[in-house]
Amino acid sequence: MTESRKSPELAGPVASGSVFVYGANVVDVADGKVLTGRNVLVERDRITAVGRFEAPAGVSVLDARGRFLIPGLWDMHVHGFDEAYLPAFLGNGVTGVRQMAGAPVHADWRRRLAAGEVFGPRMVFGSRIIDGPRPSRPGSIAVTTPADARAAVTTCVGERAEFLKVYSQLPRDAYFALLAEAELAGIDVVGHVPFEVPVLAAAQRGIEHLDGVLVGASSEREELTAGFAGLDAGDPAGMFGRLSELTHRAAGTTDPARLAELRDSFLANGTWHVPTLAVHQAKATMGTPEFALRPYLAHIEPVLRQGWARAADWRSPDPAAEQRLFERYLEVTGELHRAGVPLLAGSDTFVPGFSLHDELELLVRAGLSPAAALRAATLDPARFLGVTDRFGAVAPGRIADLVVLEDNPLADIAHTRRVAAVLFGGMVLSSPAVLAAAPADRPAAR
Ligand SMILES: [Zn+2]
Repeated sequence: MTESRKSPELAGPVASGSVFVYGANVVDVADGKVLTGRNVLVERDRITAVGRFEAPAGVSVLDARGRFLIPGLWDMHVHGFDEAYLPAFLGNGVTGVRQMAGAPVHADWRRRLAAGEVFGPRMVFGSRIIDGPRPSRPGSIAVTTPADARAAVTTCVGERAEFLKVYSQLPRDAYFALLAEAELAGIDVVGHVPFEVPVLAAAQRGIEHLDGVLVGASSEREELTAGFAGLDAGDPAGMFGRLSELTHRAAGTTDPARLAELRDSFLANGTWHVPTLAVHQAKATMGTPEFALRPYLAHIEPVLRQGWARAADWRSPDPAAEQRLFERYLEVTGELHRAGVPLLAGSDTFVPGFSLHDELELLVRAGLSPAAALRAATLDPARFLGVTDRFGAVAPGRIADLVVLEDNPLADIAHTRRVAAVLFGGMVLSSPAVLAAAPADRPAAR
């Protein structure tokens, strides 16, 4: 597996004092084991000792006896543009996120995160979405030719993007020109596999939403790929209807040999996948009493909330087919995991923090052990980002982004929701206090 070429900044706060975390059951996410009754010393923003030792004089003590200590969680697929909604990540134990669609406000956040002026998680910032000539999302960079694609890489690097995000309608020749230019610039490419590109040929570092996988594994692959390539961006409503039709057809025609071929190519290329099961579940339950985001709508920032609020009332012509499609995403996730294809936990629901816990539960439902699901939100994001020296473990030298849980997440992944306290850059946060203050009142950064 290749590590990211240039480490992202991931700026965060630096506590001024020291904290002695007393008597915690430390979860070793790498081995899936619990080390009982350990003390953890945090000095400023770093873990400096883990073991059985006395508290140094003058430190504040956090009594964690009977509780469980995990590395801070990451949601590797989020979209956020409104600062008031960022604290909800921290209140949920999510101390890091990957911003998947660059926006002008992110440059401001990035500067102020480094100065400790934003009360929100660490962030890795993606480029603006790079799409075809008629982008489907506002703020995207429109690309038609290979020359446009090369220029887009230069623009995004100039805007200090930490990775490039490619999108569905990027033309095939432009896509390959972009990959080559990104390689020269030393910047990772992740995102959707463009409609015109067969997933077997998609040499990007990460794939979101299992894009292209159902199509690539279908016995009707050639015909479906041609169908996707022929989608008309000039007619968005027609395009989304046809997209849904093709996706359902792909889901119903999986050829195990073709899926095995894909698995092998992902392993050979070191391709990471972010299944975003939480958003697939939300889409599958739209318009039903089980709509997965209903309890969370108030936590979504207003501009993004409108879309989901409408979706809550939209009714699929065939709800059973939506459910079958969702089950297929779960099965494919399980199959990729069993083959050793690396996965990252990312929700893509726009719900800050809460949805990551849904994603973890869905990863377990897909066949990951609770330890593997936890890794997909802790150690594996650190590996993907090339920052295992700073993140992803409760160990000396790592940054003190830690979550104290009431109960053992390895026994039941749902226990990640039971957050007792969060350490963030060594600052001790009370989860209920942070959540009570979000989103309406933003607590002042300390
Ligand atoms: Zn997204």
